[in-house]
Amino acid sequence: MSHTKTKIGIMGGTFDPIHIGHLVTAEAVRIEYNLDKVLFVPASNPPHKQGSLVTPAIHRYIMTVMATYSNPHFFVSGIELERSGLSYTIDTVRALIDCYGANTEFYFITGADAVKDLPSWREIENLLDLCYFVAATRPGCISYIDEVIKQFGAKGRRSIHRLATPELEISSTDIRERVKKGRSIKYIVPESVEDYIYKEGLYR
Ligand code: ATP
Ligand code: MG
Repeated sequence: MSHTKTKIGIMGGTFDPIHIGHLVTAEAVRIEYNLDKVLFVPASNPPHKQGSLVTPAIHRYIMTVMATYSNPHFFVSGIELERSGLSYTIDTVRALIDCYGANTEFYFITGADAVKDLPSWREIENLLDLCYFVAATRPGCISYIDEVIKQFGAKGRRSIHRLATPELEISSTDIRERVKKGRSIKYIVPESVEDYIYKEGLYR
């Protein structure tokens, strides 16, 4: 009988919209860490984006489903959309632990930019006990991840990992600006997401 743990990646984000950078990063982490699946978790009300205009969750959720459906290891969770109030990762991870049971390891996937803010995340010390963090970085660009790891001492060394990925210079902010200016977003988002953005008149 196998006693190996199930390994689940969590890719949290606003996904406004989801783009190739998110997908390439999640797939790279999945392969490197031999994850059974990656759950994409669109945030309903991201604490760090209060005050800025975020597209209604239903659109972001649908685009995330369309972008991920062809990968048999990628799934979308509406867990943060069903909860009211702000989306805190600690609440999400606790809910996922309840749902999947103790024989599961969680790997929270982030871009390097998000790791910089990690010390300010709610209950970060507890969060580092409950899941690993995998920070995707461009090769050669790892200095402040090291600082964050050092800040958390032994726990940081255990729980925060970095993975060099071919990080793409793509952001949702840039995509929204491109649509607004009538510039092409081809090959930066999956075709289905591109079609959906135009059909629903998003980001104009
Ligand atoms: P915005 O510009 O609106 O902030 P974003 O492109 O940063 O959008 P988010 O939904 O904020 O996308 O990001 C979700 C997660 O994906 C974060 O951990 C972020 O660091 C990571 N991420 C975003 N873009 C990339 C990329 N091009 N390569 C690797 N990781 C990325
Ligand atoms: Mg961002």
